[in-house]
Amino acid sequence: MQLVCTNCNATNRVPNERLGDQPVCGKCGQALMSTHPAQLSEQQLPKFLSHTELPILIDFWAAWCGPCRAMAPQFEQAAMAAPNIRFVKVDSDAAPIASQQFGIRSIPTLLLMRDGREIARQSGVMPAQQIIEWANRHLNSP
Ligand SMILES: [Zn+2]
Repeated sequence: MQLVCTNCNATNRVPNERLGDQPVCGKCGQALMSTHPAQLSEQQLPKFLSHTELPILIDFWAAWCGPCRAMAPQFEQAAMAAPNIRFVKVDSDAAPIASQQFGIRSIPTLLLMRDGREIARQSGVMPAQQIIEWANRHLNSP
């Protein structure tokens, strides 16, 4: 299993059976399976998306956006409850190129990615339980 460190962007190889053992980055020591959503820059994003072999849920947000702030704790909760999805946050103001590339028209927008491809997106505030159900529904559909 290949995972990309959200701190130094190094690619790490972790045996599948060790995913639950709190693996850390071989380069910087950061937890690779943290249940706390990491903030990613748009420079980090392409490699993170293409080299992470677990599904990824991206929250496009901005500091001035009230609904985004309202959803933040829900997103945190969902991340704790679904460790096999990598939860990350992208500040859309600091990531204009990525926002354009992904066609983000409103925030918050959640983007569910797998193997570098988008499999679902959803705009607007969702409670934690709904985030998890929505993601699992798309991940489990053929
Ligand atoms: Zn690292």
